Amino acid sequence: MPERIERVPREELRVTQNERLRETVQYAYRTVPFYRETLDAAGISPAEIETVDDLSALPLTTKADFREEYPDGLFAVDDDRIRRVHASSGTTGNPKIVAYTRSDLDRWNEVMARSMAAAGIERGETFQNAYAYGLFTGGLGFHGGAEELGATVIPASSGNTRRQVELARDLESDSLGCTPSYAIYFAETAAEMGVDPRALSISTVLFGAEPCTEPMREEIESRLDATGIENYGLSELIGPGVAVECREAQSGLHVWEDHFYPEVIDPETGEPLPAGEEGELVLTSLSKEALPVLRYRTGDLTTLTYDECECGRTMVRMDGVTGRTDDLLIVRGVNLYPSQIEAVVLEFDAVAPYYRIDLYREDALDRFELTIELEAGFDGDADRLRAAVRKRLANALSITPDALELVEYGTIERTEVGKVRRVFDHR
Ligand SMILES: [Zn+2]
Repeated sequence: MPERIERVPREELRVTQNERLRETVQYAYRTVPFYRETLDAAGISPAEIETVDDLSALPLTTKADFREEYPDGLFAVDDDRIRRVHASSGTTGNPKIVAYTRSDLDRWNEVMARSMAAAGIERGETFQNAYAYGLFTGGLGFHGGAEELGATVIPASSGNTRRQVELARDLESDSLGCTPSYAIYFAETAAEMGVDPRALSISTVLFGAEPCTEPMREEIESRLDATGIENYGLSELIGPGVAVECREAQSGLHVWEDHFYPEVIDPETGEPLPAGEEGELVLTSLSKEALPVLRYRTGDLTTLTYDECECGRTMVRMDGVTGRTDDLLIVRGVNLYPSQIEAVVLEFDAVAPYYRIDLYREDALDRFELTIELEAGFDGDADRLRAAVRKRLANALSITPDALELVEYGTIERTEVGKVRRVFDHR
């Protein structure tokens, strides 16, 4: 049964959001010079922001702002109140450093416990945490949430997969937290060890930190005979714990709107979009102390749905993120997200959940090569399969690869630690 706040009538939720938003804007203005300067420059006084409907008047905050204010320019409290910092890896430039007061950590545990409960994880169960511990928010975020919920945590962290399989088998883990690609790798490793992954007691895989398409979720569910539940979050806002699918519907992720206010904007113009239209997710924290965040551009593309959910939760749902504005590939003038390719190729039963995309430029033209892996023991007609995949790509995405290579099962490199990399842009 969802907690009361998760199924509060929306008018009542709105009152809480407005109150917290007013406090957050005034607090950020008072304590963080960056916000004072950007609001002043935009000619906005914090007093003008009375309700969430006024939010669009505020300037957007970007990843670049986090980098420029490195390491602690966005912190709103004195050092002696900070209990922990995390950092999100930057491939370019400074990492983003994020901070938590004691009460931020308590709230993080609370939203994580809520997320895990929505995923169907219960008090007294054993949760195997295969998210990386360390500066990345995944490991400690799930750890705190599981303890808060009253589950037993196995702090396995990432990697060391044979050991993880043994732990899952011997300690009878009920649920596994990890990236979607790692869930597949875990199942493969178990099979290699002679352990039937479907016979393990894992009944829930709580995945996140990477985009995941529906066919990839089905792979996870069938390989582990478990329910796959997606969660969403980002360090800049808190870490994991911003939104999660409910087990009842598995249809969109409930955003914990009492703490994180979501908007969707047109990524080109920055204008807010009406509910139901796809755009870039923008989040405002409503209860953070160490690092209040106003209108943060997540770079994640999604849609918000305010329809009632069968689970009884009233909080808005966002679609699973299958594209980030950063991931957009432009190939011969066609806009393409890697997840769109994944969704097409994994429709084929003969294709294993491994693929790579290589992009080159030859004589000022883009060259697109796609490599997909065949399922173990494939004995069908490779040419026919290749032709069928090409046709589906052309129909669904209006693009076909210049080269489509089918490789044997186990050929494409597996990722044991960190986020999987599937796109290699050599242009
Ligand atoms: Zn629901």
